[in-house]
Amino acid sequence: MEHGKKILMIVMDGLGDRAVKSLDYRTPLQCARKPNLDWFASNGTSGIMDVIAPGIRPGSDTSHLALLGYDPYKVYTGRGPFEAAGVGLVGKAGDVAFRCNFATVDSRFNVLDRRAGRIKEPDTTELAKALDGMNIGDIKVVVREATEHRAVLMLQGRDLSPRVSDADPHALTTVQTSRPLGPDAARTSEAVNEFVRRSYEVLNDHPVNERRASEGLLPANILLPRGAGVFPDIQPFPERYEMSASGVAGVSLIRGICRVCGLEVIEPPGCTGGMDTDMEAKTCAALKELDRKDFVLMNVKASDVTSHDGDPSRKIETIERLDGMARIIRKDMPEGTVVALMADHCTPVELGDHSGDPVPLTIYTENSIKDGTMSYDEVSCARGALGRIRGMDLMPILLDKADRAEKFGA
Ligand code: ZN
Ligand code: ZN
Repeated sequence: MEHGKKILMIVMDGLGDRAVKSLDYRTPLQCARKPNLDWFASNGTSGIMDVIAPGIRPGSDTSHLALLGYDPYKVYTGRGPFEAAGVGLVGKAGDVAFRCNFATVDSRFNVLDRRAGRIKEPDTTELAKALDGMNIGDIKVVVREATEHRAVLMLQGRDLSPRVSDADPHALTTVQTSRPLGPDAARTSEAVNEFVRRSYEVLNDHPVNERRASEGLLPANILLPRGAGVFPDIQPFPERYEMSASGVAGVSLIRGICRVCGLEVIEPPGCTGGMDTDMEAKTCAALKELDRKDFVLMNVKASDVTSHDGDPSRKIETIERLDGMARIIRKDMPEGTVVALMADHCTPVELGDHSGDPVPLTIYTENSIKDGTMSYDEVSCARGALGRIRGMDLMPILLDKADRAEKFGA
């Protein structure tokens, strides 16, 4: 029992679907040509999985927490901290993070543009630097640029609360005064208001904005926080499961989930999380990572992107590309690996958004019982020997298949 097997968790984002009318009431998975995904189903054990609970529509963030074995109802504290971790800011338990927009305001704090003329890097990098490291009383301010006009704000200090309202008005009106929404939140809302005021002072005559003005561009003269969330008190994954672990993901939010859970995040070049992501490079990176780690989670976003677009034929094409990924894994995985194929939620093409349907799941290892499932799809997996499980059941099952589970009793 000393050396358990390695575990490779492949999350094909938004892969599951419903019966699609234009596909003769079959699902995209049922229509796609995918011999390698089917090989895993034929040689593994399958089932379906309610990633959060039956009928609950997961976000990609809450679903990944559940797949890693954390109860999202306990540890999901809002998007703020996971977005912050996505750009590399991982706070301590109790630190409060916000998603922010660089915006344009007039001198009376009326919002003229919520995206500051679609500002992006490197301007936002410099402006974030100008705000980073500010102190508000004994509260430390950390600011990082994110994609396009976005940034994240983290407040570090004692007795902070995420129960504060947004300063971002979400419309072209006056900047809102952040208000406490719970007891003990006044200190935090006052810090948010002070930060917003000072962000205007620092940014309004910043050289970047003077240059933008001379080029006829809108200044990014304020940073507007929203969506406060507190960094959860989470037992790091490697400690919890006694496994070294990495996450390979192109999407910032998924990287954030991995980082908050204590996984090392690998960012192979060319892996963007969009449709242009180099799936092969990513798969090779994940397999290479598996050489030195016990556990690797790999998220592939393309299937969710095409599902949101609502075009069944493009989703089928994406599945056939995912099959190429499965071919590489089948060929190159280290001997004795436990491979789990799943989606983090269904994104039915006709709905164009996430649904609460269960997702297909296959767990393969050399000595899996072959349960007669011949195809990796929603219908075939539903007849598999794993039955119907919840996302939080997955890690214990994988640990058992990897000969890593502790015995209960004598
Ligand atoms: Zn997702
Ligand atoms: Zn989605």
